[in-house]
Parts: sequence; C-alpha cells; structure tokens
Amino acid sequence: MILIMFGAPGVGKGSQASILAEALQIPHISTGDIFRDNVTKGTESGKMAKEYMDKGLLVPDAITIGLILDRIRNEDCRNGFIVDGFPRTLIQAEYLEKMLEEEKLAIDTVVNITLDEAKIIDRITGRRICPSCNHIYHMTHKRPQTQGLCNHCRTGLVQRPDDHESTIIRRLGVYAAQTKSVLSYYRKKYTVLDIVSKEDITETTSQMFEALGLDTVS
Ligand code: ADP
Repeated sequence: MILIMFGAPGVGKGSQASILAEALQIPHISTGDIFRDNVTKGTESGKMAKEYMDKGLLVPDAITIGLILDRIRNEDCRNGFIVDGFPRTLIQAEYLEKMLEEEKLAIDTVVNITLDEAKIIDRITGRRICPSCNHIYHMTHKRPQTQGLCNHCRTGLVQRPDDHESTIIRRLGVYAAQTKSVLSYYRKKYTVLDIVSKEDITETTSQMFEALGLDTVS
C-alpha cells in the first residue's frame, strides 16, 4: 500500500502516519525527519535545508526531490510505504509519479487531515519531539509518561526551532500558497480520504482506520 499523508503543518499527520506504519508494517517516510536527521549529522543537504526550515520556508525542490526519492527507492519500500510531508509542490508530485511509474508502482490513497488554524497553532506551540527516535508529544494533549522524557528511548524532549508562533504562521502561509494545489491535483487522480483531526489522537486514528477499511487500531 502506498499512502500519502496530506495536511497543513500541525494537523497531526506525522503521529497518524507513524501509527499506520506500525499497524501495516511498512516504512514511514517523513521528509521533516529526514531533513532534521541531516541537520543533526551536519551533511551538506542538512546545512542547506536548515536555512529554509528555520525560516518556515520550503527547502528547494532541487535538494528535496533527490533526497526523498532515494529513500523511496530503498528495498524496504517495495511492499509499500507511507510518505508524510512530501510532495509539497506540484513539481515534487510530478517527480514522485514519474519515479513510481518507472518502478511500476502507484499511489493507492491520499489521507488528508484537516484542523482549524487556531487549533493548529495551539498544537504546534505545545509540541515536543524526541530528537533521537522522532516520537511526537504534546504538553497537554499527549504527555510523555515522565515529564520531558521520551517514553520509548528516555531522551530529553525538545521543541523544534521552527515551532515558534511567528514561524508557524509563515509555514501556514507557505502551505496555502505552495502545497494546497497538490491536494487539488490529487483529488482529480486518486482517492482522497478527508479526516478531521480530533483532540483525542485515538479518535482521529479510528476515523482514519475506518475510512481505509482497516479494522484494528494497534
Ligand atoms: P510540518 O508538517 O509540521 O511543517 P515537517 O517536519 O514535515 O513539519 O517539515 C519541517 C520543515 O521541513 C518544513 O517547514 C520545510 O522547511 C521542510 N520540508 C519538509 N518536507 C518538505 C518538502 N516536501 N519540500 C520542501 N521542504 C520540506
């Protein structure tokens, strides 16, 4: 199954993608995580990407496309994968389609998660992430078992540098200006499942599993 997780920043697509990936036993490819790993490792792509990410702007297609398509070409994606955060421009969408066609693969479903802008801002300002295993938490809606520590690897949680209010507003503007058009394009070609993000993460997950025809939420 090849799934594209779509939605504005902060709607919870990363959390839902990782739950789905675990249930379906397929890789979860998050472009944001790939970029952040490159930033941490100090690679050339990471250094270039950081300048854009910190400002809330999209990393240029010339850097993004190669990095993400290389990841999708990995052997572990042969039986399906979930992409979260890609494509975010029409050019990225075209390259993805071309690559999938060459590999005789195709997108099955697009999951589009929506949420009001005011709630998005609350979600993102309260978001904390594990810099080691990338699990996502929220200071009020999804607290870790021990305050400030990742449940999975006990690493100290951090706030992303681009999760401050002024940068979030810029990211929402970028989504409206550059990314939303990809959704209109996908609506003409694929099944798009619209899911309204709920405060309770498990409620959103149940809605999504039901829409996908999956009966277990693990
Ligand atoms: P969010 O969906 O909350 O904005 P992500 O972790 O997916 O967060 O992305 C963080 C940042 O990484 C983006 O603001 C952007 O700078 C960069 N990025 C992620 N995916 C892409 C992409 N497909 N194209 C360009 N830049 C991207």
